[in-house]
Amino acid sequence: MNNYTIAIHGGAGTVKFGELSPAKEALVQVGLEEALQAGRHILENGGAALDAVQAAVRSLEDNPLFNAGRGSVLNYDGGHDLEASIMCGNTLKAGAATGLRTVKNPVLLARAVMDTTGFVFVNGEGAEALARERGLEIVANDYFFTEERRGEWAKKREKEGEPGEAAGGGFGTVGAVALDVHGNLAAATSTGGLTNKRYGRIGDTPLIGCGTYARNGVCAVSGTGDGEFMIRTVVAYDVACLVEYKGLPLAEACRLVSEKFRGIGGEGGLIAVDAAGNVAMPYNSPSMYRGYCSPEKGLYVAIFEDQLGLGPVG
Ligand code: ASP
Repeated sequence: MNNYTIAIHGGAGTVKFGELSPAKEALVQVGLEEALQAGRHILENGGAALDAVQAAVRSLEDNPLFNAGRGSVLNYDGGHDLEASIMCGNTLKAGAATGLRTVKNPVLLARAVMDTTGFVFVNGEGAEALARERGLEIVANDYFFTEERRGEWAKKREKEGEPGEAAGGGFGTVGAVALDVHGNLAAATSTGGLTNKRYGRIGDTPLIGCGTYARNGVCAVSGTGDGEFMIRTVVAYDVACLVEYKGLPLAEACRLVSEKFRGIGGEGGLIAVDAAGNVAMPYNSPSMYRGYCSPEKGLYVAIFEDQLGLGPVG
């Protein structure tokens, strides 16, 4: 039997070392730990990587500190538009949903798309109808609201001349990747997107291959950061290609893809786990909420450090 590994992120961010109050930092760490524990509980009992990433992401969606589910950023009209995706490395099945305004846990809808329809990607009203039909929990749009996000939104609107069209800044997203004891890999990602987004803007998060990708024997990847740049560099799939076709170690594949992403002006990061349980967590933003856990590595959560390099494990 293999060991299991799970890694998570709670978003790459612009917050610099020393800018977060100790109280907030402690709360973020608790939130990350809770998400890791939710996934670990499944994995240590022989459960599926797919269920573990779903549980970890759901926990982060329910936590208002993270930009996914409750606590999502505000869009241009002051509401919330959510999106998520999930992928099974064993079957290469995937599910994704975008333009969600009332689905409490977008990752559960992504999973339902994957498990119960012949589709991969659904949006807007149709996606919400599917959520209702499958009995998922529906909430009012203001369930996702937090005063803190409103403050960030107000600031961004003040700064932007013509608001709502600028990519970049004010991000965060949540994601998880896992390897289970059966050797199966999975990835899931969920977000409220970018603060003050408009025109039905869709980021990398629900796009399979960009924000999320998993393939058994290769790796599972979840990204966070400037979605437009992650889409253009097809981040998650690019990492998997370097591992699969070039045989690069995971850390090296992640480093090359991160350089390419940064080279065109992208800011953010990614988490990845390979078929041997190696973890990489590179980012080029001032911080990235992140953590991992496995029987041999223990449980680790971090916000700062390793700011331009790879995470502490190779
Ligand atoms: N990648 C997300 C998006 O562009 C935001 C983030 O990860 O911070 O929607």
